[in-house]
Amino acid sequence: MDDATWSLRCVDCGASWPGLEVRYRCDCGGTLDVLHDLDALRGLPLLQTFDARRASRDRLDRSGVWRFRELVLPLDAGSVVTRPEGNTALYDSPRIAAYAGLDAMRLKHEGENPTGSFKDRGMTVGISVARRLGMTRVACASTGNTSASMAAYAAMAGMEAFVFIPDGAVAAGKLSQALAYGARTLKIAGDFDAAMDLVQQVCRAEGIYLLNSINPFRIEGQKAIAFELLQDLGWQVPDWIVLPGGNLGNSAAIGKGLSELLSLGLIDRLPRIAVIQAEGASPLVDAFRTGADLVPVPRASTIATAIRIGNPVSWRKSLRGIRAGGGTVERVTDAEILEAKAVVDAAGVGAEPASCATVAGAKKLVAAGVIPHDAFVCGILTGHVLKDADTVVGYHLGTLPGFTPLHPNAPVSVPARLDALRKAISR
Ligand SMILES: *Cc1c(COP(=O)(O)O)cnc(C)c1O
Ligand SMILES: [Zn+2]
Repeated sequence: MDDATWSLRCVDCGASWPGLEVRYRCDCGGTLDVLHDLDALRGLPLLQTFDARRASRDRLDRSGVWRFRELVLPLDAGSVVTRPEGNTALYDSPRIAAYAGLDAMRLKHEGENPTGSFKDRGMTVGISVARRLGMTRVACASTGNTSASMAAYAAMAGMEAFVFIPDGAVAAGKLSQALAYGARTLKIAGDFDAAMDLVQQVCRAEGIYLLNSINPFRIEGQKAIAFELLQDLGWQVPDWIVLPGGNLGNSAAIGKGLSELLSLGLIDRLPRIAVIQAEGASPLVDAFRTGADLVPVPRASTIATAIRIGNPVSWRKSLRGIRAGGGTVERVTDAEILEAKAVVDAAGVGAEPASCATVAGAKKLVAAGVIPHDAFVCGILTGHVLKDADTVVGYHLGTLPGFTPLHPNAPVSVPARLDALRKAISR
């Protein structure tokens, strides 16, 4: 691999390391960024190259991550483990737009990735780097989707996978994937933040490669959500990109990718990024409004388990991208998430609860006059509707504690007779 084109750099103090090594933090404690040598890429016809690769049969070109490899990580093709990921649909649903109060809203459905969430975009890069480094064991702490993704990619790469999950706080669809793909699954009596803390200690003590989003290479893969979205739009820049925020790796990645496109002159302005958090897990909202350092939320709570995170690791990187484009951070209640989800699902699109914070947040920002109704808005749906079937069924049966559904669609029991069925259909 060509180590000369990028380095690792500390977000806090600027210390840097050339090339590949097993390192997730600076000695000062700061998180790390992959810093690309953009000067080496300036003047190359990158957008034409990316567009031409969409018609290619090459394994790397077919991936919605490695198609953009010059801006992701120029890794030797032999190290790359790809499903391939990306190539997700961009929906344009009038029903969802109307619900949000917008003239139009495009939704990039990252639940259409190989294991059903955007995590695959970062994981293909993280696992490929692990292979390049000669690592044989990988681990992560997860609210579910990271472990599902890591388990699958590790299995394909022939690596041993360890997932640390908060006991009782992971949706069954996601847990089932980790088990199915053969990961050693360790339930921690504690929340995500406790599991995250422990996995870092275990990885250090055991020499296991850590694949949480603190791993800077995962962020590089997730930038490709922004690249592929813009490519879908013919490289036109939307006014707003709206997405949910938990550990904040994804918003950090999208912000970083867009800034790189801007400094290369491949786009002429930045979109505003709106990060939406669940009310019970929304420390970034306060950090954004006060300008102070993020204060972790001790017992984060929300029905949207994928964003039930009180101490997000990438908050500083995330704010950087939000501020650069003049974006914002907002919080929505679980009730708002579930009603938005009912609309997203009934439109035939469907997504897991955390994803629907995107639509609930857009609706709130439009109502508040922050996003104009005629703005060019793109939302990210982060995970597949089947990831959390229990919440869907609970919503429609009206059995979710403390919550009355506004759009229930419960199954109806009918006697096994033609007349009874006809009667049931006609009402
Ligand atoms: C991981 C995840 C999120 C949160 O992304 P962060 O990068 O942690 O902010 C949101 N939705 C789904 C479905 C996820 O899997
Ligand atoms: Zn540092």
